[in-house]
Amino acid sequence: MAIIVKISVRNLVEYVYRSGSIESGFRTSRAMTEGTRIHQLIQKGYQEHDEKEVFVEADIPYQDFVVRVDGRCDGLLKGEESVTIDEIKSTVHALDDVQEDTYPVHWAQAIFYGYIYAGDHDLSEVTIQLTYVQVKTMEQKKFRRVMTYEEMKSFVYDVIEQYGPFLSVKLEHKEKRNKTSKTLQFPFESYREGQRKLAGAVYKTIDDKKTLFASASTGIGKTISTIFPAVKAIGEGKLEKLFYLTAKTITRTTAEEAFQQLIDHGLDIKVLTITAKDKICFQEETICTSKDCPFADGFYDRINGAVIDILEQEKMIDRTVIERYARKHRLCPFEYSIELAYAVDAVICDYNYIFDPRVSLKRLLEDQKKKTTILVDEAHNLVDRAREMYSAVIHKSNFLQLKREFNNSRLATQAKAINDYLLQVKKSEEYLRKDLDEDLVELLETFIIEAEGELVRTEHALLLDTYFAAQTFVKIAKLYNEQFITYVEVHKSEVMMKLFCLDPSEQILKMGKGFGARVFFSATLIPGDYYKDLLGGQSDDYVISIPSPFARENTEVMIQPLSTRYRDREKTIEPMVHFMKDVIDKKNGNFLIFFPSYQYMRTAYEQFTDYYPSVSTIMQDVGMTEAEREDFLAQFNSERAERLVGFAVLGGIFSEGVDLKGDRLQGVIVVGVGMPQIGFERDIIKDYFQSVGKNGFDYAYVYPGMNKVLQAGGRLIRSDSDTGVIALIDDRFLQKKYQALIPYEWQHYRVGGV
Ligand code: SF4
Repeated sequence: MAIIVKISVRNLVEYVYRSGSIESGFRTSRAMTEGTRIHQLIQKGYQEHDEKEVFVEADIPYQDFVVRVDGRCDGLLKGEESVTIDEIKSTVHALDDVQEDTYPVHWAQAIFYGYIYAGDHDLSEVTIQLTYVQVKTMEQKKFRRVMTYEEMKSFVYDVIEQYGPFLSVKLEHKEKRNKTSKTLQFPFESYREGQRKLAGAVYKTIDDKKTLFASASTGIGKTISTIFPAVKAIGEGKLEKLFYLTAKTITRTTAEEAFQQLIDHGLDIKVLTITAKDKICFQEETICTSKDCPFADGFYDRINGAVIDILEQEKMIDRTVIERYARKHRLCPFEYSIELAYAVDAVICDYNYIFDPRVSLKRLLEDQKKKTTILVDEAHNLVDRAREMYSAVIHKSNFLQLKREFNNSRLATQAKAINDYLLQVKKSEEYLRKDLDEDLVELLETFIIEAEGELVRTEHALLLDTYFAAQTFVKIAKLYNEQFITYVEVHKSEVMMKLFCLDPSEQILKMGKGFGARVFFSATLIPGDYYKDLLGGQSDDYVISIPSPFARENTEVMIQPLSTRYRDREKTIEPMVHFMKDVIDKKNGNFLIFFPSYQYMRTAYEQFTDYYPSVSTIMQDVGMTEAEREDFLAQFNSERAERLVGFAVLGGIFSEGVDLKGDRLQGVIVVGVGMPQIGFERDIIKDYFQSVGKNGFDYAYVYPGMNKVLQAGGRLIRSDSDTGVIALIDDRFLQKKYQALIPYEWQHYRVGGV
């Protein structure tokens, strides 16, 4: 039986017909097709016997394969003698600028529908109609062509022929991938304790199409234990694609290494790492227009060839590889990697490509999603990251400025209306609101339409920024429910309004829903119920907890009950630094000491180096570059002549995701219980959870704080034979609440001095 490849008509014709340049991200033909409201309006004008949103599907042979295309035709207009296929497109351009052949891709889409419909109903010809609607004026312009079945068939087969080379590369690779995945062995001699259990749970989750919450200690090798079973599931035909999602660049490298190990063991797989736009951009200034950037100019003319080229040559498509091919084909490296994300087997990327409604990969079809698994690494980070993703902000000053600059225009009127609205909010002094005012959303929607009309003619940085902010606000407003709050901050004449997501669970659940399976894992999903609750867990989800494979006695744990509360710091700093020195003296190797703030860290550092000038020390700095971070970590090596003590902040770049294996680190000291700074947003999170029957203070402060402590302690990675030290400094660690959060691996702690 021939292999069937599914693709939507829209994706197919967009692939074949794309051409031109990247232009600021909103002037694409795709943007022109999003007007659901306009579609409905036109469809309302159809006759009774006409049909709308008609699903069509056909199989078209290509070489040894069958391409199954499908789509939804906007309208079928049934005249007495003929049938018209209507394709509706809304546009921000003046209709005078839209001519019959301006957008061949729209004709192509409609001709596909015409061909399928005519074939199904034995029609020798149909009329193809494109209906363009100007979004502001609602004026319409129609173009019609009568086409015979044979003409449409030849057109459709020609399009498939152009899609063919890409298809051949993909299918040839798929065969090799599945074969090598079937025979692939675990890349180590044996499983570590706990690894098999985790790998088994991940495989079962994929097989059962479920969600798994896995808490697995540092040191068991979580990355390979999640990737390996997912890759095996690909070979078994249970999976087509996987996303390995991380919060930090450093964990992306670990995932790349795991895939590389599998490739070295014979697996043929295409793995892509997506690097953030601002990091990978080739230009000094990120202005993505054909005029300002040669890598944006003509991007779509060259992209198809470049995708095939890289897929034919490479397996691990990491940042360096992307950059090399992007230069070769003169393409924007970021947009190139986004295109590749749809074509490869595995994508290593940030959470936002799946969970953020503004960034997510929208061309992933529902069908593809069902055969895709998401592996969410260090999932405890997703809670706060998701809060950011589902929140949005607007500023009054931007609208006021636009009103002035675009004086006497419809855009100015709209900007003024929003400015006035925010002024009213300021006067009302209602700064915390549970409900969202739909009037504001409507004002912003109209502003967006006016801004689009202006932006196709003029380049204007403030307008573009405000347009994107308004779009985000409207998008988030559509998600708004009782888990959100609206708050306002007033500073002199500025009014800032924020839609703030207090509990992201429902949104995370929604965004992850279409995927075949979801695995949320971390060393510190503690307490389990809290994370399951906030990450959108359901009662029938799978949950496992895997303890450390190493004897806990190999780690000496102590709690020093000194107060690190702000008011006591002056009093306790001296005994604290002496205690630190005593702990450090227990070992010959390197230590990391984590503090709740930079200020506290600097004060302690000064005291420590005053008392103990002979100890080699190093201190984290605010805003370190990637090279500086690497240099900081590189100094922690086991061959040093003298031991090194690193001072760093909790919840920062060195307290999570960095693996200082073996003898590189012999001890960790954590100062304080990691509690986030008391602040307005944290307090409203607290009040919200209190109001829904949870312990608000724990949800807003205690649990996120303890998570940072557990993460920092996890930097001490011991093997079977190594021993190490963890010291926790704070009297609160002895309180019942905190005791309950201390993991089994640390429960043999000793209290007091060394
Ligand atoms: S290279 Fe930079 S400026 Fe050019 S399109 Fe890409 S991100 Fe934009």
